[in-house]
Amino acid sequence: MNTVNLDRLVPEYIKGFEAYIPSKPDDVLKRYYGVHHLFRMNNNENALGPPAAARKVIEEFPQEQASIYPSGDSYHLRLALAQRFGLHEDQFLVGNGATEVISFVIKAFCASGDNIVTADKTFAVYEWVAEFSGLSARLIPLKDQAFDDRAMLEAMDEQTKVLFVCNPNNPTGTWWSESRLRAFLDAVGPERVVVVDEAYFEFMDEPGYPDGMKLLDEYPNLVVFRTFSKAYALAGLRIGYLAGSLEVVEVIRRTCVVYSVNILAQAAALAALPDEGHIHRTREMVKQGKEFLFQVLNRLGLPYLSGGGNYAMIKLPMSDSLAYRKLMTQGVMVRTMTGFRFPNWIRLSISGMEAMEAFGRGLGRILDKGARK
Ligand SMILES: *Cc1c(COP(=O)(O)O)cnc(C)c1O
Repeated sequence: MNTVNLDRLVPEYIKGFEAYIPSKPDDVLKRYYGVHHLFRMNNNENALGPPAAARKVIEEFPQEQASIYPSGDSYHLRLALAQRFGLHEDQFLVGNGATEVISFVIKAFCASGDNIVTADKTFAVYEWVAEFSGLSARLIPLKDQAFDDRAMLEAMDEQTKVLFVCNPNNPTGTWWSESRLRAFLDAVGPERVVVVDEAYFEFMDEPGYPDGMKLLDEYPNLVVFRTFSKAYALAGLRIGYLAGSLEVVEVIRRTCVVYSVNILAQAAALAALPDEGHIHRTREMVKQGKEFLFQVLNRLGLPYLSGGGNYAMIKLPMSDSLAYRKLMTQGVMVRTMTGFRFPNWIRLSISGMEAMEAFGRGLGRILDKGARK
């Protein structure tokens, strides 16, 4: 009676799946690396912190509300989103981060034997959810570091239900223009769902970058993801959402976990949504941070990739995990990318100048001590 027959219990696709190991909490890391301060530049968080109105909501949160269930379908937030985007409130589903809504979509449309199509080097959760659900993820190699529309279309078959496009792509920063996205949606046709993940939408002000919300009327099989974790700086509260046509969202709603979005997150997101000033200041910070970073990287002669979003990828002449550890001893946390199929690259969140300078100094030091000199 003291063992479990896991061999019988565990499906084959779970046997072959490895759990993702998140990084340790900051206090543990600081102690381990012997630093007093840690600049978090690994998760594309917004260093400005939450917008003022969201801070106020958090500060003044009525404590007795912690004992009651939240709105099960984020009612007030959906009304605000509907008004903001000129859509119907039932066209939105709010989740515990946009990460959660990925599984809503996959569960709603994919049965055993079905597959999803996405890129090999993108936000990994699409692939993970498909695989631990026993579905296959067709991972199409990036072309010129961008999603390869033609190869994705060729990879579709009868069992393809959902295609995921990350726009701009995390981690490469590449993005499809509106005309490219439209051509893709036209070519996919109405038999499949196309998800466009716009987690970094609010950072984009490039001409030609598409606003998925504006395409929903024309493409009822389009689903758009957005999040409050990145530009709105509410990552710790876990809240994101999807939008689609009434008919498609009505189906996805069936796989939603009710009450997964907590009461404070709903209130803070509602307060944050209208704050255009915060978005503007965030973009300015990212712009300044990128300019500084590119100067540093050009001076050091390091290849890098950066486009939309508040992040950049940097290719190092050393192992990324070694670079990670060395940067940690200087109080700078970056994302290693070997596990994401970019060996010896790191991804850096574009942060405030103090953090950017700390990174620049740290990088200079670790390269100096290495083989380069
Ligand atoms: C960060 C991110 C998300 C979702 O983040 P949540 O915190 O779960 O809302 C989704 N897609 C991409 C591409 C991201 O980078």
